[in-house]
Amino acid sequence: MITVLSGGTGTPKLLQGLKEIIDPSELTIIVNTLENDYFSGVYVSADIDTVLYTMSDLINDEFWYGIKGDTFITHERLEEIGCAELLRIGDKDRATKIQKTQLMEKYGLAKACEIQAENMGLTCKIIPMSEENSEIKIVTDIGELEFHDFLIKHQSEPEVLDLKFSKVSPTEGIIEAINNSDAVIIGPSNPITSISPILSLDGVREALINAYVVAVSPIIGNDSVSGPASKFMKALDIDVSSVGVASLYQDFLDTFVIDNDDIDKKVEVNQIINKVIVTNTIMNNLDAKKNLAEIIIDSIP
Ligand code: GDP
Repeated sequence: MITVLSGGTGTPKLLQGLKEIIDPSELTIIVNTLENDYFSGVYVSADIDTVLYTMSDLINDEFWYGIKGDTFITHERLEEIGCAELLRIGDKDRATKIQKTQLMEKYGLAKACEIQAENMGLTCKIIPMSEENSEIKIVTDIGELEFHDFLIKHQSEPEVLDLKFSKVSPTEGIIEAINNSDAVIIGPSNPITSISPILSLDGVREALINAYVVAVSPIIGNDSVSGPASKFMKALDIDVSSVGVASLYQDFLDTFVIDNDDIDKKVEVNQIINKVIVTNTIMNNLDAKKNLAEIIIDSIP
């Protein structure tokens, strides 16, 4: 069994490779829920839906958000009638979100995800990191912003001074999943807003110390491959590099995969993490995704 900790862009790329080389029924994917919120009356769990769509080959992998080939009739009509929405939710994607909202209100988020995964014919387990509502605030030079306001309305442009998260409880079964896994993979996801929320759940760090954990750096050189990770790391005084990411995971990480471009950092990373693998980590095609997935699986003792 393999447990994967996931956000909504970098790790799903790796999942596309992993599901080609191992039986998806071997996978438990624990997904960040920090940014979940209601939009236009529906519950939006963007990272969970991205993982659901990735595993069922429906994902729009240009944006790592929504369903490929989706239409936006409802979104456009909402705008026409003076109800413009911040998120661009596609029609089919909205159906998923409506169903999830209804299931969640009846059974809770974890069961809702389980039912949706089953409906999509998936054999992997997709577990939201928490069933509780969480809040994230980005403290910037123009004031305190909601996550999606920062990301979409302000296009991640304001200077970030600090981040505030609320503390939530882990979903039942997460610690057991980690304890029962041959390996835990931390994909190249945003270490601040996707991975640290999972790491900060009660019992997770302790469970990881006793597991074989392998992570891929989302930072290459001195910047993130995409998204605001580098901005968030800077705000928290963490070195924006694979060395900085290594320092965040050093208490439990066994193997760290860094990019070929960071070969000059190998010695420094090695002072923090026992085993360092240097390879291509840019997953811009299926072969690259499969190669990286294979290297990770081969590293499992
Ligand atoms: P979010 O929920 O959209 O923020 O997505 P994630 O947290 O899953 O992923 C964002 C992180 O993935 C960013 O920090 C990127 O630098 C990293 N990332 C995206 N694509 C790649 C890739 O192909 N290779 C590597 N190494 N990192 C990537």
